[in-house]
Amino acid sequence: MAIIEISNLDLYYTEFHALKQIEMNIQERSITAFIGPSGCGKSTLLRTLNRMNDTIRGVRISGNVTVGGEDIYGPGVNVEALRKRIGMVFQQPNPFPKSIYENVAYGPRIHGISNKAELDQIVEKSLRAAALWDEVKDYLKKSAYGLSGGQQQRLCIARALAVSPTILLMDEPTSALDPISTLKIEELIQELKDQYTIVIVTHNMQQAARVSGQTAFFLNGEVVEFADTVKLFSNPDDQRTEDYITGRFG
Ligand code: ADP
Repeated sequence: MAIIEISNLDLYYTEFHALKQIEMNIQERSITAFIGPSGCGKSTLLRTLNRMNDTIRGVRISGNVTVGGEDIYGPGVNVEALRKRIGMVFQQPNPFPKSIYENVAYGPRIHGISNKAELDQIVEKSLRAAALWDEVKDYLKKSAYGLSGGQQQRLCIARALAVSPTILLMDEPTSALDPISTLKIEELIQELKDQYTIVIVTHNMQQAARVSGQTAFFLNGEVVEFADTVKLFSNPDDQRTEDYITGRFG
């Protein structure tokens, strides 16, 4: 079943046409990678999926984006509730200047959970799901800033999971990490697929090939090709996709 349906989507930054007639259905509990050269619209499309572009001045959007059947640009949409359903992880790990525990408990607290036992349970569950629990369980009161970059990124994933989203958006989540931390996050992403729908922007084609089931290739604000990852990398339909994946431009 498609959980995200994008149709007829155009986005302008003032006069600049950044997304052109995007059509894409994303299946539930799948991993979709957005690839393409820098500046082609990957992050912009990712941000339209939880309305992160709302705060950018001069953005104009037309077309349709539905999540779980709801038109997320329709009247009366509660953007805060939407972002609870659709979590986001950024390029630079961005934990709060708080303890490991409080980073994860923060979201649930905002959404009204104050019972200590319940929070403890959510923190443990989220840290386990982010494959970080064993490394931090004895240091929950320590500052998140004492963690390595890779651990901080897994903490940010735990923080996103703590409010029980259904979709996780990841914008180049490993580009600031070393190869071993990258591998851990990639393994984690694959584990999360059983429960979450994941959309990941990556400038790394090998990463897209390793982790995703579907890949969209972007060029100049258009989705040139959207297909099963194996097909897109082995037998693309479009010459431009072929040229990109074989390294003729980038
Ligand atoms: P990608 O993620 O593929 O590198 P982006 O989605 O970040 O590309 O950017 C797509 C295009 O939109 C680029 O040309 C970029 O310069 C432009 N752009 C991105 N963000 C803004 C903004 N806030 N204001 C104006 N232009 C922007």
